[in-house]
Formats: sequence, structure tokens, C-alpha cells
Amino acid sequence: MLVFRQLFDPQSSTYTYLLGDSVSGEALLIDPVFEHVRRDTALLRELGLRPVATLDTHVHADHVTGAWLHKAGSGTQIMLSEASTAANADRLLKHGDRVSFGTRHVDVRATPGHTSGCLTYVLDDQSMAFTGDSLLIRGCGRTDFQQGSPGLLYRSVQEQILSLPPACLLYPAHDYRGLTVTSVAEEKRYNPRLGGDVDEGDFAGYMNNLGLPHPKLMDVAVPANLRCGQPDQSMTPAPEPSWAPLACNFGGIWEIQPVALEECLANDHAHHIQVIDVREPVEFSGDLGHIPGARLLPLAELAARSAEIDKARPVVTVCRSGARSAQATVLLQKSGFSQVANLAGGMLRWRAEALRVEQGGR
Ligand code: FE
Repeated sequence: MLVFRQLFDPQSSTYTYLLGDSVSGEALLIDPVFEHVRRDTALLRELGLRPVATLDTHVHADHVTGAWLHKAGSGTQIMLSEASTAANADRLLKHGDRVSFGTRHVDVRATPGHTSGCLTYVLDDQSMAFTGDSLLIRGCGRTDFQQGSPGLLYRSVQEQILSLPPACLLYPAHDYRGLTVTSVAEEKRYNPRLGGDVDEGDFAGYMNNLGLPHPKLMDVAVPANLRCGQPDQSMTPAPEPSWAPLACNFGGIWEIQPVALEECLANDHAHHIQVIDVREPVEFSGDLGHIPGARLLPLAELAARSAEIDKARPVVTVCRSGARSAQATVLLQKSGFSQVANLAGGMLRWRAEALRVEQGGR
């Protein structure tokens, strides 16, 4: 079965697409964004998918690709157009190529015109296509820099995208108005630049008179994307926490698994982890018990009493199921704590894994 997710970067209005094959567990990411690699990785993990490749539709001018970071984290292959002239790619794609994920694949179509290296990825059954900036919903990418050409773009869109089956869904790299998807039939009829009876001359006239300013991030994004998103010293991502084996969930919360926390607490001679139990006093002294050494600080009082916790030492928050304590990590971060993690599954999972508890109040 096909697994499909559309993810969004509000900063640059970029869509990232996840295509997975639930049988083999293999997945592709199209146009990943540098700042969201952690989010994407957590989602893939939660869906039980293993990313095999990142595919960029082109060298973007408005955000930095997450391709290099994904490769560094999970060994994905970096793929983009041969015409992009980008460094660090594992596979340079050209028209007619095929990229497989498990039993499924996407076909590569060259759709130059916005940039000389623009590609459109078409799902094997032609039910969806990922058009990058070659075709946007009721619009298209600009053609006034990065070797853009209105004539080329016009022919690419007509011959390679609008020639797909009318019901084929088209997913663009961006939308600035909250639209998420369109179709070949819809764009043929309603795209003001490329649909209806618009010919190449009309289109060129339109595109040559847009008069748009250059994107804000262009001077940073294009050079970084020509390295497939490999960071230079000026943009090193936030380091992974080293005080415990943590994983960031899809909600952006750092989590520790019960067994890992118990091990950390047993051998914790360096970090002096503080376990903060944010349940109510009756729960703390109730049947589930509490983690030995845990301190009770109910969630409702946490913001006001956070000064009672040592900011220099890491904090693990705990509650019954892991939900209130996730909120507690957010509150503590707002109060200036930088080393905070949530106990995944809370006391329920701690008990289910038969880990040691203390009973009674404190
Ligand atoms: Fe673009």
C-alpha cells in the first residue's frame, strides 16, 4: 500500500512529500527542508518507514534542502537533476530515469524553464505528480533567474505535465494561499498563465513583466543547495543532546524510553539527572507508585516553581501516560531549561516494563 504525507514549512511555504511503500517499508522524501529533518525523521520512524532517497525537484532559492542532513542521519541517497550541477549528489537524474521505493517507483520527467535543472516526479500509476515550481496551483515558478526561460517552461508544462491523465493530482513545491493540491484537468482549465488558450507568446509576455524582487534567502539558499544542503560553519544545526539516549518525536518533544532512563539513573555519575514527576500528590503516592528519587512538582505549579529545579542539570519529566509531562517539557523550555526530556509512556509504561518503583508519599 502507498503511504503518502504532505508536510509544510511555514517559513518558506514549501511542501515536502513523503512517499512510502508499506510492504517493504522503503520511502522517498521529495523536497525535504533543512530545518525539518528532525520532524521528517520522527514521522518516518513512527510510520515504520526507512527513507532510501531524497529527491529535490530543483536547486531552490528560498529554502535550504534537507538532503545532506537526511543522508548524514539515515544514509539516504541524495538525488536531483544532472543539469543542476550540484555537488554531493549520489545519483544525478535525467529524463526517463526511474527511482524505486520498494515495489513502487516514480518516473523522472525533465521540466526545465523555472531553472534549467527542474524535474517533475510522476508516480508509477500516474495518479500523482510532484511538479516542483514548474507548475504551481493556478501559477508557476518565475523564469527570471537561475537560467529560467519562459519558452522552455511553457513547453515543459504543456508537454510533460498537462499531458498527464486529467485526473492526475498535481502537488507543487509551494503554495502561498493555503491550497494543497490540484489536478491536470483543473490547471488546464483555470491556470491563468498556462491553461486555456494561452500560447507561448502570451506566457512569455506575462512572465517577462512580473517585476518580482529576488527571494530573501536566495544568497544563502542557492549556494547551500548547490552543495545539496551540506552546512558550512555559519549554519550548523542544533546539536543532538548527549546527556542521554533521546529521540525527538513528531511533535518536536525530546523523549527517553523507560529502560534507557533507568539505566541512566543507575549509572548517572556525570549528569545528575533530575526526575520531576508532574502528577498530582494523590497520584504520586497512589498505586502506580513513582520512580525512586523522583521529585513531585504538579504541572499546574510548574511554571511558578521552576526556580526550585536546577537549570544546570538535565531534567526528565514524568506523569501517568506521558502527555502532561510532554507539556511540562514545553513549559520548562520556555522557562529557560535547555536539557529537558519526557519519559515516553509515563508511569504506565514504566510499570508495564516492570521497572522499579517506590510507593508512598514524599
Ligand atoms: Fe524554485
